[in-house]
Amino acid sequence: MLLLFPPIAKPSEPPAGIARLSGMLQSYGVRHYLLDANIEGLLYILGKPLGKDILLDSWTKGAFHNLKKNIASMQSWFAYQNQDRYIKTIKDITRTLKFLSPQGTQIGLADYSQEIFSPTKSSDLNAAAQEPEKNPFYPYFSQRLRGYIEKERISIVGISLNYLSQAICAFAIAGFLKKEFPCIKIIMGGGLVSSWIKTLQSNRIFDWLIDSFISGPGEKPLMDILGITGKKAFFTPDYSAFPLSEYFSPGFTLPYSASSGCYWKKCAFCPEKAEGNAYCPIPNTQALKEIQELTAKQKPSLLHFLDNALSPSLMTAFSEEIPGIPWYGFARITKDLGDFDFCKHLKKTGCIMLKLGIESGDQRVLDNLGKGIDLKMVSLALQNLSQAGIATYIYLLFGTPAETKESACQTKEFTIQHSQYIDFLNLAIFNMPGDSQDFLSLERKPFSAGDLSLYTDFIHPDGWDRKSIRFFLDRDFKRHPAIARIIQNDPPIFTSNHAAFMKFQAVKL
Ligand code: SF4
Repeated sequence: MLLLFPPIAKPSEPPAGIARLSGMLQSYGVRHYLLDANIEGLLYILGKPLGKDILLDSWTKGAFHNLKKNIASMQSWFAYQNQDRYIKTIKDITRTLKFLSPQGTQIGLADYSQEIFSPTKSSDLNAAAQEPEKNPFYPYFSQRLRGYIEKERISIVGISLNYLSQAICAFAIAGFLKKEFPCIKIIMGGGLVSSWIKTLQSNRIFDWLIDSFISGPGEKPLMDILGITGKKAFFTPDYSAFPLSEYFSPGFTLPYSASSGCYWKKCAFCPEKAEGNAYCPIPNTQALKEIQELTAKQKPSLLHFLDNALSPSLMTAFSEEIPGIPWYGFARITKDLGDFDFCKHLKKTGCIMLKLGIESGDQRVLDNLGKGIDLKMVSLALQNLSQAGIATYIYLLFGTPAETKESACQTKEFTIQHSQYIDFLNLAIFNMPGDSQDFLSLERKPFSAGDLSLYTDFIHPDGWDRKSIRFFLDRDFKRHPAIARIIQNDPPIFTSNHAAFMKFQAVKL
């Protein structure tokens, strides 16, 4: 069996989903291979020669001249030690990708688009599968997959599709397999596929191409497909098959999930609630054991928790030995973070940054969204974390149905008042999950003609629409000096994946 992660997703760390499946297959002795076609495909594109007759301006010439050096500097500490250097390196690599993208295609470090195919239309994904040779990664994946299949006698390929930016390439890869190796069984799973299945029940559209779709954590469904019987419930991921030195990070970032779903699952804007995903935590003792094994084996420089929200009980169970290396992840603001001793404990365990969804500075909006946080507690938590030396990456959400322009102004005031405790800011405009059972009284209108679109537009009851919000953010919110200073910190494209490196560059984690 071959498990594959298609292009394009941020190339800062290896894919966690197929690493965990690999752990499961190993423990049952199933021969299998892992292929991160995302990092390999991206490096393939970046290694392509540029057409001879293309005229280049001086910036682009310089970007091509420095390309190898720039890639190496993203794979070492060099780019991260100076913010201007980091930004220039990213801009230069992005510039070369623009010129290396075939006409009608735009390849980025974290995005992918092809004029003729939309990733939210099933007819376009089917078309991408029917014409895989139109995909710019075709020379890479056709050769690589042929090699695996013929040499290793692969009979099943599992494709892990997590982001919209991977969809067109994932289907092009599936289409290639179907055309050239019709006997191969194709299984598709991952976060995006799970959302499609939960919300749209649209998997039948791809019956000609995909043999099985998997929704949610893949271990058990894959065991069923392979006819594996076994009682083991947890499997330590295995990253040893990935090209760990090639990712765009200064050292290996180890991605790890201690749970799937969310233990809170009450926020009205969140797909976790809308899709009704079950919360499945790995027991703390097992998670601690896995983290210890992985860090001893792979010697990562950073541990990235992928959980939607780390549970307070797991964070309490951490010790100075486990994780024992620098780590970051999402947490909810609970009373634990209002306790300075708890924050000091987190710092001692290696916590260097917490990602926190605060969403709004208006308590009425938070209550309406079911966020379950209290602004007084948020204020205390931000101060405690800052004092303990833990960076904060704050997520704000504008344009929810309960928000008014006045609420957004309160969010601005809250941000300004707490700006000294905030290191990074992510500003988002609310997208309503298409199948949300909240806000049923609101008039909805489709975002796009795509039948696979997971979100819907709606008429805001207070006229606080996307255009007004964008205007407010650009002309008002982002222009306040205290906020502008924070926004400037955000690493372009890689955002939170590189934020800790940028924040702690001087001490090298
Ligand atoms: S805490 Fe986060 S993941 Fe959980 S329901 Fe709220 S927004 Fe969703």
